[in-house]
Amino acid sequence: MRKKIVAGNWKMNMDLAEGLKLASSIDKYFSENPSNKATVIVCTPFIHLAGAHEILKHGKIALGAQNCASEASGAFTGEISAWMVKSTGAEYVIIGHSERRSYYNEDDKTLNKKTLLAINSGLKVIFCCGEVLKEREEKKHFLIVKRQLEEGLFPLSVEQMDKIVIAYEPVWAIGTGLTASPDQAQEMHKYIRDMVKEKYGNECAKKLPVLYGGSCKPSNAAEIFSKPDVDGGLIGGAALNKEDFTAIVEAV
Ligand code: PEP
Repeated sequence: MRKKIVAGNWKMNMDLAEGLKLASSIDKYFSENPSNKATVIVCTPFIHLAGAHEILKHGKIALGAQNCASEASGAFTGEISAWMVKSTGAEYVIIGHSERRSYYNEDDKTLNKKTLLAINSGLKVIFCCGEVLKEREEKKHFLIVKRQLEEGLFPLSVEQMDKIVIAYEPVWAIGTGLTASPDQAQEMHKYIRDMVKEKYGNECAKKLPVLYGGSCKPSNAAEIFSKPDVDGGLIGGAALNKEDFTAIVEAV
């Protein structure tokens, strides 16, 4: 049985005090409601990581960043390396979010570099993939995801794949209120798992968590998560609100 995962992506929201307050309230909720079986991750902006780690370290919630540099260290003003992320106590990092791909021109090669640096620094990677609306309308969505995985992820060894969680996030569903139907999500998740099976074998594919992301809310989460190849979600907007986020976790 694959473990279910719900990861919140706070994006560029909340100042330090607001972020730590949200981390505390989520932590309190899960200490008081310990029956939850899913792995819960919060991916905060860099500035919250060390403080959030202090709050979360005795509880059950894991911490992640939303990005890391494509170089290990040195004269790269303004960048934060994977090793720096790891040193805050974070365990995860999101790589390849569509907002990074489109606003910061992060290509598959760069994302592969970041993924390898993250794994070598001891982090686990939530690797995002997904097509834009035009690509889906032109029925190119499988081709796009295939390329993103082949170039961004598949240079990894089978041992390194153990550190990977894939998040399928159709870009047209992110922050738009549109959601892929449960069947659309299942179809793509199965496609992804089949690709991983072909490349790395059945054992690897069977244990790989594949999350869905794109306007997940308490009202639609249970139906999407009920699909056999959907192992949880990557949650944006709804992760900024304790009630919505915890309700999504409870829906797993
Ligand atoms: C995301 O940013 O990863 C995401 C899924 O956002 P939202 O839930 O707001 O669509």
